[in-house]
Amino acid sequence: MHTEPADLANLDLSPADMQAMGNLVVARAVGHLAALQSTPILGEYAGIEALCRDLREGAPEHGAALESLLAPLFDDWMPRAFGTAHAGYMAYIPGGGVYPAALADFIADAANRYTGVWQAAPALVQLEANALDWLRNWMQFPDAARGLFTTGGSMAMFNAIACARERLLGNDIRSGVLYVSSQTHHCVVKAAKLAGIAHDRVRVVEVDQDFRMRVDALERAIVADRGAGLTPFMVFSTAGTTNTGAVDPIDAVADVAAREHLWHHVDGAYGGFFHMVPELRPLLGGLSRADSLTLDPHKGMFLPYGTGALLVRDGEALRALHSSTAGYLPDNQSEFYDPAQYGPDLSRGFPGLRVWLTVKFFGAAKYRAALAEKRALAVWAAEQVAQIPGVVMDAMPQLSLFAFHLQSPALATLAAQNTATRALMDRVTARGEVMVTGAMVGERFLARVCVLSFRTRRAQMDICVRQLAEETALLLAEAAKHA
Ligand SMILES: *Cc1c(COP(=O)(O)O)cnc(C)c1O
Repeated sequence: MHTEPADLANLDLSPADMQAMGNLVVARAVGHLAALQSTPILGEYAGIEALCRDLREGAPEHGAALESLLAPLFDDWMPRAFGTAHAGYMAYIPGGGVYPAALADFIADAANRYTGVWQAAPALVQLEANALDWLRNWMQFPDAARGLFTTGGSMAMFNAIACARERLLGNDIRSGVLYVSSQTHHCVVKAAKLAGIAHDRVRVVEVDQDFRMRVDALERAIVADRGAGLTPFMVFSTAGTTNTGAVDPIDAVADVAAREHLWHHVDGAYGGFFHMVPELRPLLGGLSRADSLTLDPHKGMFLPYGTGALLVRDGEALRALHSSTAGYLPDNQSEFYDPAQYGPDLSRGFPGLRVWLTVKFFGAAKYRAALAEKRALAVWAAEQVAQIPGVVMDAMPQLSLFAFHLQSPALATLAAQNTATRALMDRVTARGEVMVTGAMVGERFLARVCVLSFRTRRAQMDICVRQLAEETALLLAEAAKHA
C-alpha cells in the first residue's frame, strides 16, 4: 500500500536530489548522443499505433522515481522516431540540435527568470537583444530593424503578415491581396489565414523551370488585382524553397515591391543563414533589402527545435503591432529591447539564451565554416549523383539542397518514375544510415537531399552517394526485368 509522505504539499527538492537527478539526465542524454550513429536512423515503426494506444493513461496519483521514467523514454520511445539528430539526416530541412543550446534551455528553465518584460530581468533581456542584433548584422539589415524570436518559421510568418497588414491595410483587411509562388512553404498561406487574410486574397504566382517565382507573372497579377479594385499589399519570396532549394529572384521582387508599394517578406527559414558566409551572399542577392525576413535558427543555426526568428526592417512597424500596456505592468520604456513590445507573448520561455549561449560558445567563425562546408558537401554530392545512370537532376544545389528523379527506358511513364523515385528514398532510408525524403512538385515526385545538419560531414555524404547509386541500380534492374 502506498503511504503518503509526511509533507505532501512540498514539491521542492533538496540540492543533493537535484544534483542526482541532473546527473541522471545528463548521463542519459550524452549516452544517447554517443550511441546515435550506431542506431538505425529510422527506428522501428511496426506496431507503433498499438504502442501509442498502450501509452494512453490518466495522470498518476502518485509520483515515480526519475530513472524509471527515463528508461522507456530513451530506450523505447525515442528510437521510434525520425532520426533528426543523426549525422545522416538529410530529409526535409535538417538542423541537428547543438548541445550548448540544450544546456541553455536547462539553465533558463531551472532559473526561471521572467524575460517577457524588460524590467523583470534587464540584463537577461539584453542578451536576447544581442542575439537578435547578431542576426540583424549577419543579414545586413539596418540599425532600425527589430526582431523577435518565435517558436518557429511559421510563427515568424504570422507576425510578419500581421505587421504588414496593420501597416498597409489598417482596418481595410478584405481589400488586401498577398502574393506567394507555387513553391512557397504552405505555412505562409496558413499564417495568412491566422492573420486575417483569407484564401481568396492569396495569389499563387507561377515559377520558371528552376522553380523560381516568375516576376512577370507577379507583375501581371498585381495589375489584375488593382484593376479589380483590390489592394496588393504583400509579396513573399523564398531564399531556398523546401521542395527544391530554389532561391527566388529576390532583388527583382524587391524592385517590384518598391515600385508597387508592397511589403516584401523574404522566407529565409531554410536558406537565410547562408547569408552569414560572405562568399555565399551573392546566392541570396537582395535578401538584405527585404521589409521583413523569416529565419529559422533551428535549421541554419543547428539549434534544437523551437526557435524561429523574424526581422522587420522598420522596427517601429513591429512595435506598433505589439506594443500595449496594462495597469499591472511597469511603464513601457523605449531605450532597451523589450520582448512584449515586439511580440505577441507576455509570459514565455527565454528563447534568446539558447541562441546567445551557443553563439558565444562556438563563435561566428565556426558557424560560417560549418555552413560553407554543408554547401560544399551538397554541391559535391549533387555532382556525383548526377552521374548515376538513371538519375535526372531537376535542381542542382543553389544552396545545400538538390532534387532529382529516376528515369530509364523501363521507367517510361511518369507514374513509374514517381513510384521508383519514391522507392529510392524509402530504400536508402531503410538501410539505416541516411534518411532522405522527397516531395511532390506538381505531378512529379522528386527525390531530395538536404545537407544542413551540423553533424553531416564528408563520411555521411559518401554513404549517401554510394547508397543512392546502389539502390538506383537495383531499382532500374528490377524495372527492366518487369518491363
Ligand atoms: C521549415 C520552413 C518553414 C516553416 O518553418 P517552421 O519552423 O517549420 O515553422 C517555412 N519556410 C521554409 C522555406 C522552411 O524551410
